[in-house]
Amino acid sequence: MDLSSDDARLLSPNLNGSEDENELSLRPKTLDDYIGQDKVKENLRVYIEAAKKRGEALDHVLLYGPPGLGKTTLAGVIANELGVQLRITSGPAIEKQGDLAALLTNLNPGDILFIDEIHRMSRSVEEVLYPAMEDHSIDIIIGKGPSARSIRLDLPPFTLIGATTRAGQLTAPLRDRFGCLFRLELYTPEELGTIVTRSAGILGIGIEEDGAMEIASRSRGTPRIANRLLKRTRDFAEVEGCGVITESEAQRALARMDIDEFGLDNIDRLLLRTIISSYNGGPVGLETMAAAIGEEAVTIEDVYEPYLMQIGFLARTPRGRIVTNAVYSYFGLPVPGQQSMI
Ligand code: ADP
Repeated sequence: MDLSSDDARLLSPNLNGSEDENELSLRPKTLDDYIGQDKVKENLRVYIEAAKKRGEALDHVLLYGPPGLGKTTLAGVIANELGVQLRITSGPAIEKQGDLAALLTNLNPGDILFIDEIHRMSRSVEEVLYPAMEDHSIDIIIGKGPSARSIRLDLPPFTLIGATTRAGQLTAPLRDRFGCLFRLELYTPEELGTIVTRSAGILGIGIEEDGAMEIASRSRGTPRIANRLLKRTRDFAEVEGCGVITESEAQRALARMDIDEFGLDNIDRLLLRTIISSYNGGPVGLETMAAAIGEEAVTIEDVYEPYLMQIGFLARTPRGRIVTNAVYSYFGLPVPGQQSMI
């Protein structure tokens, strides 16, 4: 079995096909319903209010942070709060300059264009965005060869919301054109507990507070994972249990899914164990580590590392990644005498 595929990995924060329909109903629609990310929300509230008062489009927004933290959801919330339409696309889906031009010229005044994975947009498509973001216009080339000429098209005022897991990969000219930059953080177990309880209410799942907290604390700080574990735990509770997710039901179901009390799964454990057994605890470079466990380096960086670092299991040093003493204790191994905690 390929454990790295999304279907196999319950803890993957990436969306998989079967979740699409539920995904919609679980997404909060207003800032008040959007749980956590308080600092981002406070500032957004002000910017939204100001734009509404002036009757202008909101300045362009860049949302960045690991997958599954609510970037797409927040774009929908912003559109809803502004009372405008949201058009959704993604960097890799826009193949040609003309595709982007068509999207932009079809916007109504004030509308939001959401581009997911904006760092994966091609450079030539990106160049169309510069004048669009800055001057609300695009240059279109008509014809070919010597008779080709460029005409300038005015666009309605609009807001671009870009989402990316890696702000560092955006080119400087693109990054500089965003007026508001927000970094989304991993959620606390309490915030995830609230999200699990809310989702259970929407999906009609019986759950006790302790059961919600049990799921929340094993969801790697990520709402998408919390919602997925909630649904899988319900399956166990309905088929093998009493139908209601209690603390012990949740524990039993999560153990069956090989997710431990830290929220780690087989791949996390493989990664940590490999650093200990093959690299003496590190430091080990990202690419080497990726090759050793058969994962993509970007996946390790975007998906596994943020959480492992948040719980203090993994640290980055200038010479590579190291595991902390906590990992030796986690595996029940003796802590090496000189192992430094960073
Ligand atoms: P991203 O675009 O960052 O990958 P999404 O916006 O698709 O993440 O969010 C994934 C899921 O998590 C959504 O289905 C949504 O229901 C849930 N979610 C994300 N953020 C929140 C939040 N702040 N409050 C409640 N649910 C959330």
